[in-house]
Amino acid sequence: MLTKDRAVCVRTVDYSETSQVVTLFARLSGKVSAIAKGSKRAKSAFDGPIEVLSCGDIVFSGTSKETLATLTEFQLYPMQGGLRRNLFALHSALFAAELLNSLTDDYDPHLVLFDHTLQLLQDLDGPELARDRRDVMIRLILFQLVLLREIGLRPVVDMCANCKRPFSKTWREVYFSSSANGLICRDCEMSYPDKVRLGSAAAAGLANLRQITRLQGRAVEEIERVLIHHFTETLGRRPKMAKHIQKA
Ligand SMILES: [Zn+2]
Repeated sequence: MLTKDRAVCVRTVDYSETSQVVTLFARLSGKVSAIAKGSKRAKSAFDGPIEVLSCGDIVFSGTSKETLATLTEFQLYPMQGGLRRNLFALHSALFAAELLNSLTDDYDPHLVLFDHTLQLLQDLDGPELARDRRDVMIRLILFQLVLLREIGLRPVVDMCANCKRPFSKTWREVYFSSSANGLICRDCEMSYPDKVRLGSAAAAGLANLRQITRLQGRAVEEIERVLIHHFTETLGRRPKMAKHIQKA
């Protein structure tokens, strides 16, 4: 049986001289691992080797978790070229792909997350984007928060995740704890050895995402640093792309 879907490629591994195994995050099917036979040949059903971040309409056969599916078509959506010109945008998109691959399960669809992923890639690739590090990072942060929400790990950002005291800008110290999955107030921080301190502007931006575009670059970097810490704790390892996102 053939399945049609839309997908973003989140991982590729060479399978032989001529073929690849690709991991696709598909809109209706969820994550699918498939063999693309002959994809590395000059003449194949695919226009050359399949690359991570390629998006398009796919056709595949086999939908069992135990065996690889076979990819028979991948009609790519045209890219604008923005990702080729902006290294930080490219790294951010690759980081998003790595997180999707690490945090979603095979054949567990997330439509909202798929649509958000496609929008992120189009925004990062588009010609209109102000190609500033801060703008790219804000898009990455919003994507990461959608990802956490859609996989059932929405962090608590409007109150102390422990004592439930509502967050306010008057908090003199704010922390984020991965084990508590959210903000932690000064009275509770002692119980959370994994906490990291968050500046008040960054905490306010996280608590009210509508404000995030007004934040200074430094506060945006701080939110991303906390999210990388959080993904590291969640995955039990640091994501590979993190070193390209976080300034030393
Ligand atoms: Zn508290």
